[in-house]
Amino acid sequence: MSQPEDNLLKKVIAHCKEYGYVFPSSEIYDGLSATYDYGQYGVELKNHLKHYWWESMVRMNENIVGIDAAIFMHPTTWKASGHVDAFNDPLIDNKDSKKRYRADQLIEEYVAKIENKINKEETKAAKRFGDAFDAEQFRATNPRVLKYQEQIDTINQRLKEAIEQGDLEGLKALIEELGIADPVSGSRNWTDVRQFNLMFATELGSLAGDSNKIFLRPETAQGIFVNFLNVQKTGRMRIPFGIAQIGKAFRNEIIARQFIFRMREFEQMEMQFFVKPGEELDWYQAWKEKRMKWHRALGLGGENYRFHDHLNLAHYANAACDIEYKFPMGFKELEGIHSRTDFDLKAHEQYSGKKLQFFDPAEDKSYVPYVIETSIGLDRLFLAMLCHAYTEETLDDGSQRVVLKIPAPLAPVKAAILPLVNKDGLPEKAQEVFDQLKYHFLCQIDFKDAIGRRYRRQDAIGTPFGITIDHQTMEDDTVTLRDRDSMKQERVPVHSLVETLREKCALQSLLQQL
Ligand code: ATP
Repeated sequence: MSQPEDNLLKKVIAHCKEYGYVFPSSEIYDGLSATYDYGQYGVELKNHLKHYWWESMVRMNENIVGIDAAIFMHPTTWKASGHVDAFNDPLIDNKDSKKRYRADQLIEEYVAKIENKINKEETKAAKRFGDAFDAEQFRATNPRVLKYQEQIDTINQRLKEAIEQGDLEGLKALIEELGIADPVSGSRNWTDVRQFNLMFATELGSLAGDSNKIFLRPETAQGIFVNFLNVQKTGRMRIPFGIAQIGKAFRNEIIARQFIFRMREFEQMEMQFFVKPGEELDWYQAWKEKRMKWHRALGLGGENYRFHDHLNLAHYANAACDIEYKFPMGFKELEGIHSRTDFDLKAHEQYSGKKLQFFDPAEDKSYVPYVIETSIGLDRLFLAMLCHAYTEETLDDGSQRVVLKIPAPLAPVKAAILPLVNKDGLPEKAQEVFDQLKYHFLCQIDFKDAIGRRYRRQDAIGTPFGITIDHQTMEDDTVTLRDRDSMKQERVPVHSLVETLREKCALQSLLQQL
């Protein structure tokens, strides 16, 4: 349903907490900023999302295998990857509000405001011209829009140059020239811009000191690169092939907000695809399309996705884009797809002194493969799913319900078994049905309260099916199966429940769309 977007995020956060999806971490001590715990339903949804990703990579592609590398890695890994020297965010403080911001993000938000003005002009004109309106032509010719667009292009160009050259003074000058004010206090009293490394460090063993300093990995990718040869050799993999991994990553984000969208400890699902040099841009294109298809199969609304091609390429990339999703706070990055060239493997060769190459029998020579990376944040995917699933409805009898319309294959609890009354052998029958289903699906039995309230509780956690045991069940061994979304009920024999639910909850229905 449509509602003010800000409200939606607030409602989702409250709902997650109330219904056991996501809790603030160590809440009894007032929480730890940007750190969250997944509750009893959250962990189930997260596991199903991981499973969908894993199966789509490792099971559906003969040439992709998975690994699970350690979070701690040899510190030289992060020298080679460039993270020690360059995994920095430019930060700026407001002297009055004492708030800290990412300088590049302040500028990007300013640009987004100008983009909004263009969108408004377009909406106004579309209303005025009706069916005859041609948005493309309007954007190409309207003087006001052209002026805005020129402003955007100039700012983006200066931002790009400043970032590429590490020109911190240039960033500050841009903020001042644009008159960007602190969004909280309105003050323009800024400090200089400084670089801030995002890696968390700790010490190995009992000796403190720089030589024992190790990092919590800021991305899972490097665990894949350092294992490239291990996997290639033991798995007898031939180019092109991929290595997939799901795991935690840690970043000391300067501003961590927007719930689980930006956390300091989060989970990534990454796949590095090794290809022959020269073929990388074709593979990049192919993975862009494959990944978009994967997202769309989730049913979160095709119009809610878009590609954002990068203008500012990271030092290791020769092409890059994000798949953005329309979160309640606007279109934001959900997944990154990068053509990483041979940067990582070459750097690890150089720092380790070991060859990380593939002998190509067809070419009769060895080379360092090029890499296409697909990297998605599991927590962001979780948030996208919940924001889309959260629905408030007014029913025919005027009552209200909140329902999480999570696709059945991903829903935490698949079925709730509900005896209509707590007597006449119905609870025992419910237990019997539960014992039959528990080998196949996560189910719940709920005896408490009127049936309507029990349905509401299951709707709120997104259980796709309600199985009601009534007096007729005792006579003919059938139950009613209630569909969460349509609320329609059908009578189903107990002996066919497993088959019916299996069909409706099969992950296959998503995988077959890929
Ligand atoms: P952003 O620009 O939003 O900081 P990024 O470009 O640094 O993200 P990548 O390094 O490409 O992100 O990481 C790949 C994916 O990991 C992102 O698309 C995102 O889904 C996820 N991710 C990155 N940082 C965070 C974070 N702090 N919290 C949650 N997820 C994150």
